[in-house]
Amino acid sequence: MNAVESKKIWLSSPHMGGMEQSYVKQAFDTNWVAPLGPNVDGFEKDIENYLGDNNFVAALSSGTAALHLGLKLLGVSRGDEVLCQSMTFAASANPIVYLGAKPIFIDSEAQTWNICPEQLELAIKDRIAKGKKPKAIIAVHLYGMPYNVEAVHKIASEYKIPVLEDSAESLGSSYHGMKCGTFGDIAILSFNGNKIITTSGGGALIAKKPEQREKAIFLATQARDNAPHYEHTEIGHNYRMSNIIAGIGRGQMEVLEKHVNNRRNNFNFYKNNLSDSAEIKFLEEPTGFHSNRWLTCIETTSYELREGLRLALAEENIESRPLWKPMHRQPVFADCDAYLNGISDDLFDRGLCLPSGSNLEKEDLFRIVSVIKNILR
Ligand SMILES: *Cc1c(COP(=O)(O)O)cnc(C)c1O
Repeated sequence: MNAVESKKIWLSSPHMGGMEQSYVKQAFDTNWVAPLGPNVDGFEKDIENYLGDNNFVAALSSGTAALHLGLKLLGVSRGDEVLCQSMTFAASANPIVYLGAKPIFIDSEAQTWNICPEQLELAIKDRIAKGKKPKAIIAVHLYGMPYNVEAVHKIASEYKIPVLEDSAESLGSSYHGMKCGTFGDIAILSFNGNKIITTSGGGALIAKKPEQREKAIFLATQARDNAPHYEHTEIGHNYRMSNIIAGIGRGQMEVLEKHVNNRRNNFNFYKNNLSDSAEIKFLEEPTGFHSNRWLTCIETTSYELREGLRLALAEENIESRPLWKPMHRQPVFADCDAYLNGISDDLFDRGLCLPSGSNLEKEDLFRIVSVIKNILR
């Protein structure tokens, strides 16, 4: 339509605050160009201060690495079964397979799009009846919306199964005033390029006890025993965060609240401009739930309308994307059991993620909304 190609609008792009380069420069100036140093320590402290007391943070190379170590700390090993939210990014489930354990997928609930407490309890009872108690539960706060914390953790503690809280998309979200990342026996964060704050790539493990954090760092640094030479009694990983990357993280922590506000403003803009259409629905926050609105997602009335919107946006150089394809429908997990109620399948067919970066301009938002309105009309 436009003779000149209009500016590309991304789904969620990195957004620097301004101080990142000075932390990175400090690392160069002091020659801390290594997977340890003052920025790593400082970034961990920044996150601990943000999350509050009794959270012990290990900065790692990715959220996936944090999930892998988290499962190890919870004792998951070969032959175990791990219950995992089906509607999520594959990174939530892949580390189960790294350990030779088996993912069992649990469908979503309509209220939050996250792990359905009813299906979860059904699955636990059924696995126990079949002779194997699940070793852990992976629950995800998808798109920034907290999962049903009270119901999920009540079931987990009733059956004494630990929860690995995948908070990769929900730093800055909270549930009844308590911050996401503080609920699990272990929790993880991601600082990938598309997340609410980014270090280009990176992640963190959040432990409840200092010993767990120590153990995570031990495993992340090749499991070196205490000896003058290199001595190993366990298999380790090279998963620690670089001091350069952590410098970016320190700068980003300074603008976390601003990013959350911007993303929530995006959501409100879309909602105010589109909600008079009966063909589009927004995921509302239940009472006490506070979402960082990492991505604004809409539910359309049909697969055809969703595709119509997606293609019209692409035509105008605007990136959008269907919701996460549930893991129980991924070819790679075809042989895994799943406890289903149809909700994640339906969301995958009709849902669309809209551009949601904290660096979107008002004119970008107007452009996106006008493309959508044209299709709805
Ligand atoms: C991004 C993401 C991860 C993985 O984090 P990386 O840092 O990219 O390894 C895990 N789970 C969810 C839900 C994510 O969105």
